[in-house]
Amino acid sequence: MEFSMLELVRMQDAALRARAQKVVPGGMWGHLNAAKLPDRYPQFFSHGEGGLLWDVDGNRYVDFMCSWGPNLLGHKHPEVEEAAERQRRMGDCLNGPAEVMVELAELVVDTISHADWTMFQKNGTDATTTCVTVARAATGKRKILVAKGAYHGAVPWCSPSLIGVTAEDRAHLAYYTFNDIESLEGAVNGAGDDIAAIVVSAYRHDMSFDQELPTQDFARAVRRLADAKGAAVILDEVRTGFRLHTAGSWEPLGVSPDLSAWSKAIANGYALSAVTGSDWLRKAASQVFVTGSFWAGAVSMAAALATLKVVRRDNVPDKIARLGQMLRDGLETRSRQFGLSIRQSGPAQMPTVLFDDDADFAKGYAFCNATLAKGVYFHPRHNMFLCAAHTEADIADALEAAEHGFATVAKTAPN
Ligand code: PMP
Repeated sequence: MEFSMLELVRMQDAALRARAQKVVPGGMWGHLNAAKLPDRYPQFFSHGEGGLLWDVDGNRYVDFMCSWGPNLLGHKHPEVEEAAERQRRMGDCLNGPAEVMVELAELVVDTISHADWTMFQKNGTDATTTCVTVARAATGKRKILVAKGAYHGAVPWCSPSLIGVTAEDRAHLAYYTFNDIESLEGAVNGAGDDIAAIVVSAYRHDMSFDQELPTQDFARAVRRLADAKGAAVILDEVRTGFRLHTAGSWEPLGVSPDLSAWSKAIANGYALSAVTGSDWLRKAASQVFVTGSFWAGAVSMAAALATLKVVRRDNVPDKIARLGQMLRDGLETRSRQFGLSIRQSGPAQMPTVLFDDDADFAKGYAFCNATLAKGVYFHPRHNMFLCAAHTEADIADALEAAEHGFATVAKTAPN
């Protein structure tokens, strides 16, 4: 398919890509490699402000990826920056944690309803891996049940790629289908009496697929089957944390996990992750050896403390859900006006937009290239993110850009 396009200036970006190709394998690693995005997308950025982002060539975007999750309150949020700066003046990486760790732990335990204790790390993968280690230590069992296609991080036990991974790394994983109680029962029975944990995402947010919220029956089945086997329920909140519900994403379902993994939004862009746990896992959590040179960094903890206070005070999940719904309603109306049929799934504050009859994502890519040229950064296949700094004016700009995007797709590939 050919799509006509406004041209964005990409001089600096092209120059940096050429330099990076020589000294960074592939130019960029992992999910942030712009080669995986539509061809007009920049690789390099210069700065962010609230819900806006600038690339290195000075193009400005209303940003709906929000750093792939961490930007929850808006870039350079004054309360977060002030708290981080105050701690930075005192010290960040010391011989042990600063006072702020205890204050943050108290607030996390007070905020997350299932939490009796918490421990901090850096990345989401640190948190999910720590949860698995604690569950195995507490139960003395080996098997970990995960949903097929779910993302829990980028180390050998859970990486979505098998390149560089051995069969032994995955030896004790068993798979079920999200929201499918029968398949979960099958996986539990198959694992016999050797189950340490059932790992579950807060909702099914697999890339390139329609998103699925958990049914209450499924959530209850996870709890019931884990209890029957003496296993832990590990809720992966890395992507969803503090966007769906302040006290935990499964709060509205009335189902409590035993362990949860948090990261991304917890410190509004500063590097921090957390594990929260229930009392029966406290002893095991104190016995496993989990640590890292930077896990006690005080600046990101100060940032997290300020972030969580704002999330609680301003009821951030409700605010971004309302903005997300405005975006969703506007996209629905405009796609129809152009005779296009789209599928919008997932929570409104973490929208996923896919086109019908678009197996190769050509429509999605053309739509995103076109909206990007109008200053709006969407993703064609991954769930997106709202932040509390987005305004109704940003949503209006996004919808205007979307009109251009839908017009572009309709011209070349009408439904
Ligand atoms: N779990 C989920 C649900 C995630 O979305 C991610 C990150 N995309 C991770 C775990 C891993 O987090 P990190 O990239 O910070 O290691």
